[in-house]
Amino acid sequence: MEEQKENNTTTESTESEPKKTSTKVRVVRLPETVTISTFAEMIKVSPIDLMKQLMRNGIMANINQAVDFATASSIAPAFGYKVAPLDVQNLKKTKIEDIETDASLLQSRPPVVTILGHVDHGKTTLLDNIRKTKVVEREAGGITQHIGAYQAIYGQNLITFIDTPGHAAFSSMRARGAEVTDLVILVVAADDGVMPQTVEAINHAKAANVPIIVAINKIDRPNSDVERVKRQLSENDLLIEEWGGDIIAVPVSALTGEGIDDLLESINIVSEISEFKANPEGLARGVVLEAKLDKSRGPVATLIVKSGTLSLGNILVVGPNTGKIRSLMNYTGGKIDAAPPSTPVQVLGLSNVPIAGATFLVAQNEKEARDLISRHQSENKPNNRTSFEDMISRIRTGEMKDLNLVIKADVQGSIEAISHALTQLSTEETQVRILHTSSGSIAESDVFLALASDAIIIGFNTPIEPSARRVANHEKVTVKFYSIIYQLLDEIQNVIQGMAAPSMKEIIDGHAVVRTVFERSKNSNIAGVYVTDGHILRSSSVRISRDGSVIFDGLLASLRHFKDDVRELSTGYEGGVVLNGFNDFKEGDSLELHRQEQVS
Ligand code: GDP
Repeated sequence: MEEQKENNTTTESTESEPKKTSTKVRVVRLPETVTISTFAEMIKVSPIDLMKQLMRNGIMANINQAVDFATASSIAPAFGYKVAPLDVQNLKKTKIEDIETDASLLQSRPPVVTILGHVDHGKTTLLDNIRKTKVVEREAGGITQHIGAYQAIYGQNLITFIDTPGHAAFSSMRARGAEVTDLVILVVAADDGVMPQTVEAINHAKAANVPIIVAINKIDRPNSDVERVKRQLSENDLLIEEWGGDIIAVPVSALTGEGIDDLLESINIVSEISEFKANPEGLARGVVLEAKLDKSRGPVATLIVKSGTLSLGNILVVGPNTGKIRSLMNYTGGKIDAAPPSTPVQVLGLSNVPIAGATFLVAQNEKEARDLISRHQSENKPNNRTSFEDMISRIRTGEMKDLNLVIKADVQGSIEAISHALTQLSTEETQVRILHTSSGSIAESDVFLALASDAIIIGFNTPIEPSARRVANHEKVTVKFYSIIYQLLDEIQNVIQGMAAPSMKEIIDGHAVVRTVFERSKNSNIAGVYVTDGHILRSSSVRISRDGSVIFDGLLASLRHFKDDVRELSTGYEGGVVLNGFNDFKEGDSLELHRQEQVS
């Protein structure tokens, strides 16, 4: 029910739109059924009035009874409200979406495009090429500045490009509820083909449900092979148009400029089909793209307007932060007075530096700004994200229909086996959706993807990188580690059936310190350790800390005492330790031996 409350408050902000836009009906988002008392509270009328209205419609109901969505829709207009379905999956979206009831007020707006792809495939070069050849307002005498985004023009149409390529940034924005990207350009180098980060980018874009256009880059290179790229794309579920799919793939050279016009033309086509629209009237809402503190100018933020028009002198509210806009600049550094939807702008005037990915809105006056801030503070209890247990209960009640998973494993072979077995666990009520799989350790971008898509991460015989662990801990993203496949399947099956996972508690078996490091072979080191307390068990997991930070957490591969494999090493003993997936031991590293035990 937390979601309902949160969502209701969100829609309340539509109420604070200026009165002059009276064509806007207030919108309240409802689940399939709602009790009279809750509904009355949501639309701020007395339950008695609501019951009276129901009676006029021939429905008798008491205050604790529930009405269905259709009934609620039929009486809401009498109170100046329109009812929209509460889309639990899309809650984050509704936070910044302007819920517009009158389609005639919507106008086309430029698409906001993010470029994703494998490292060195040419994302930056492509952005630079378009910036150099297709930017608007060059005649204004401004030199383009890197403010986080810029606008190009092609065939009379504006296109907004986000300047920070890369899917980690893309998903971290999304994780904060900032659905800023409308369209993804996936860059694949024709000489290199689809690479691991290409697949990651595809999965991040798919999870965000945004259209993808593929730019097959570096076609000027002699060893480029466009057909191979097309084939590899189809192997990753991106079937291009000429092969009967709906993905546009454009061969380009970001270096020579060949094909760039075709790419921009394709963006125009996809934008036309997707009908990106917003109401340019009214107070602006949007997203903070980046922000910093400038010594002389104070907080400087780049914003992208999602709806309405942002104007000089507007009172901005970003989370707990407010301020009157005293300077509005476009990406050429030119001063402007107003910014319509999809425009990137740099603003001065905020009291503090806002966080990237935060959403902003404009208040009508100082008082409303203060109200919005106090509402923000009461809504933002420290991290109220759903925990794993909540997820299980949402599955049990049927509120959550998909179990989204990100799977990382030591080798590709395990991934295939695990993915196949997991998809077989889907039931009619709960579908297993695998958003992304890859071999290697769990990285920050995996955590952002999981966070943005309400997914859990499964690590099979693979550790989590320290930075990823920090984000996961902070954002309460569930990360589950397994080394035995049937245990993994058992647990996930329980989750799907809405059964609470057994409570586990961590047992610390002991501690040890690395005294020497021996090189066994090129990529395999043995840590010579001394057990300082407790004992090392062959079955324990090991958490390694260096300079106070955890740098690895994973399983033991072998435990030795002199030349013998042993099952245990006690306090005061020395031995050799080899780990699964970690090799970079240094003298002085401390080891904490731990394991999970079921609480009965
Ligand atoms: P990013 O990591 O994806 O942003 O890749 P960059 O844009 O930094 O490009 C990586 C390298 O590829 C650079 O040396 C570029 O000059 C080169 N490059 C990018 N696009 C092309 C292209 O179309 N043709 C050729 N020959 N080289 C390119």
